[in-house]
Amino acid sequence: MLKFISFGSGSSGNCYMLSTPNDTLLIDIGVGIRGLKKACRDYGVSLSSVRHVLITHDHADHIKSVGSFSDDYKVPIYATQEVHDGINRNYCVAKKVKPEMVRLVEKEHTMKVGDFSITPFAVPHDSADNVGYFIEAEDTNFCIITDAGYVTDDMKKYISRAHYLVIEANHDEEMVQNGPYPQFLKERILSGTGHLSNRNSAIAIAENMSEELKHVWLCHLSEENNHPELARKTVEAVLRSYGIIPGVDVKMEVLKRTTPTGPYELA
Ligand SMILES: [Zn+2]
Ligand SMILES: [Zn+2]
Repeated sequence: MLKFISFGSGSSGNCYMLSTPNDTLLIDIGVGIRGLKKACRDYGVSLSSVRHVLITHDHADHIKSVGSFSDDYKVPIYATQEVHDGINRNYCVAKKVKPEMVRLVEKEHTMKVGDFSITPFAVPHDSADNVGYFIEAEDTNFCIITDAGYVTDDMKKYISRAHYLVIEANHDEEMVQNGPYPQFLKERILSGTGHLSNRNSAIAIAENMSEELKHVWLCHLSEENNHPELARKTVEAVLRSYGIIPGVDVKMEVLKRTTPTGPYELA
């Protein structure tokens, strides 16, 4: 039985845990280690069980604690070469990843890591590089896509194979347009290397999901340009317009920004 926990999702820090009975990995580590430790204690899981960390991209909200975590827990860090270079350049990352803990991933190359079979794939964003991960374990397919400017054909392919999907629903387009952000920032968010809106996220789910998709979690919601209820309602309305009934055909939940969500048992 696979288990999934979100420890934080959004610009204040992202970190997700996926585990089998014998193996555990983290995806991104942009939250503080002290808070992470406390959350793990509350869940009765130990950070010492983490054996691998996968990084999507080199923005601070995804990598802040990567070096210290790797060092404290002696865990290797998987990322593309460009993302590792980005981590080394990022002044928000106080402690860098030691060379012996660096592991390289390549897009569209499946690797076996412990109990997991992992395929990284390209996701357009304005970082040095960015990948989503398609993870197979115990006959269950888990897919995570965050910080995505738009939805590529490759991303659609992995959404269509997912049993469980974590996908960005960053903003409401109108809230961005009418909100307080300066114009350059609005343009950045709405661009093809920015973030996925509620609507585009919903269309990506509706047009590509298979009947095998059981549960969707909306992630990386903006604090200023979105609201959990609005994200949920927008996505549900789009799904319904495609004849998909939320809660019946597929479960859907919004991941909280700064408090943990889960654990979920994936089977
Ligand atoms: Zn982010
Ligand atoms: Zn980002």
